[in-house]
Amino acid sequence: MPMPVAHGLVGAGLVAAALPRAGRRRLLLLAGAALANAADLDFLLVFFFRSRAWHRGFTHSLFFALAVFLCLLLALGRRRAREAVAFGLAYTSHALLDFATTRAGGGLELFWPFSADRFALRWWGLSEIPSTLPPAEVLKSLAVEFLLFAPPFLLVLLWRRGAFRRGSGAA
Ligand SMILES: [Zn+2]
Repeated sequence: MPMPVAHGLVGAGLVAAALPRAGRRRLLLLAGAALANAADLDFLLVFFFRSRAWHRGFTHSLFFALAVFLCLLLALGRRRAREAVAFGLAYTSHALLDFATTRAGGGLELFWPFSADRFALRWWGLSEIPSTLPPAEVLKSLAVEFLLFAPPFLLVLLWRRGAFRRGSGAA
């Protein structure tokens, strides 16, 4: 169960890869990071209904991610469809990362509303069940996530910066 560092870096990286714009770039990257963490807002339902069963439920479904993308497309319009795709990918990355990095924790309702079965790859665990860890272990997990996911994010930024300069140089 990756924590916000891993999800945020993946979401911002996807937005950086898809949207090589100079002006509002920081804001767009922050929005990507926020959307990549949005699925875990289901913790509000856990808190409200006092049941852990809400976590990794419908907000972690690929079909819910598709619905989020369609809402973004409607809100942003056709002219900003590329942003909608980038943000939709950022949202979807959350479920895929949870799925790929869960070994011991509970799985995800990946195919809700068509199936209530929970899925996880159960091959490699990253930051598993942080709520059960002492604070020092949580900090260690956050550092591991940063060390794993910051380099690819920085590489995408460097790649896009180069692509943007080449594009503006050619114009
Ligand atoms: Zn999650």
